[in-house]
Amino acid sequence: MHPTDLSMLPSPYQLQKMNWITTVVLAILHAGAVAALFTFSWRAFAVAVFLYWMATGLGISLGYHRLHTHRSYKVPRWLDYFFALCGALTLEGGPIFWVATHRIHHQKSDQPGDPHSPRDGAWWAHCGWILFGETNHNNTRLMSKYAPDLAKHRFYVWLNNWHWTPLVALAGLLYALGGLPLLLWGICLRVVFGLHATWMINSITHMYGSRRFNTRDDSRNTWWVALFTFGEGWHNNHHAHPTSARHGLTWYEFDLSWITIKVLRFLGVARSVQAARPDSVLVEQKAA
Ligand SMILES: [Zn+2]
Ligand SMILES: [Zn+2]
Repeated sequence: MHPTDLSMLPSPYQLQKMNWITTVVLAILHAGAVAALFTFSWRAFAVAVFLYWMATGLGISLGYHRLHTHRSYKVPRWLDYFFALCGALTLEGGPIFWVATHRIHHQKSDQPGDPHSPRDGAWWAHCGWILFGETNHNNTRLMSKYAPDLAKHRFYVWLNNWHWTPLVALAGLLYALGGLPLLLWGICLRVVFGLHATWMINSITHMYGSRRFNTRDDSRNTWWVALFTFGEGWHNNHHAHPTSARHGLTWYEFDLSWITIKVLRFLGVARSVQAARPDSVLVEQKAA
């Protein structure tokens, strides 16, 4: 079976019960994010921005999403691992969980079995599925069925089981270096902002925005979401061309991750880069 062919597998997203640990951790992080606003300094702000780029930009957009889930380009093993480590710093779960969930999303987009479709409610798609959905983020064995290519690597299995440990280590480091303000900005506010930015791809970009391609799901291109998600807001382009490393398909569709991949390719670090062309009109929708 090809790693992205999931049609034979049942959906693990069926049970609905409150995930108390997740809910309590998220509540504490949100309280910390509000508290951060009272401890502003440019130094703390800069650390938060840098860590946001590292965790959500390198870790999620370049790593978990475009590299690990869709294999839209290749990098040396050490960078493959480094991007995954950055991804874990978002508290969005380990790489096997994230990749499995996202492959199921593409397989069943906005159909029964989609882990997070706004057709089940906007808040469900945004964060309800995290708080009330089946919690499988530590069920490495089950999720590995959906990401066998990652489960081959002991490092990914370890990181999936212990995905929260890099963040705890970073929290200790920040507290040692800058006390509470650095902890609140570099962890609480940065993680909360990153979570909502990523969750907006599941909620907002399946509801609001334009559709260049007449895909079978509700995906949209939402320019303002693309601005702070490293280009992930060009979500209709992405659903039409999931294996393309390039999501913003024209010069005015700002896609910071695509620019980064081009730099990595220029440096000889990224190879086998797949890119949909701006005029790839496979299923282009005619203007109504
Ligand atoms: Zn989607
Ligand atoms: Zn995707």
